[in-house]
Amino acid sequence: MAKDRVISHLSCEECKGRNYTQVVTRKRKVGDLKLSKYCSSCRKHTVHKETK
Ligand SMILES: [Zn+2]
Repeated sequence: MAKDRVISHLSCEECKGRNYTQVVTRKRKVGDLKLSKYCSSCRKHTVHKETK
């Protein structure tokens, strides 16, 4: 149900901009995920780290 889900943000490591959001289940630990994503502020692919 809805209570089991939480929105996490993926923030750029370089400019700290929060470019992506995603819905994850509470059971999964938030903060471990690192992804290479395109940042429109940096105009390149950067490492994005998951934050709450
Ligand atoms: Zn950036």
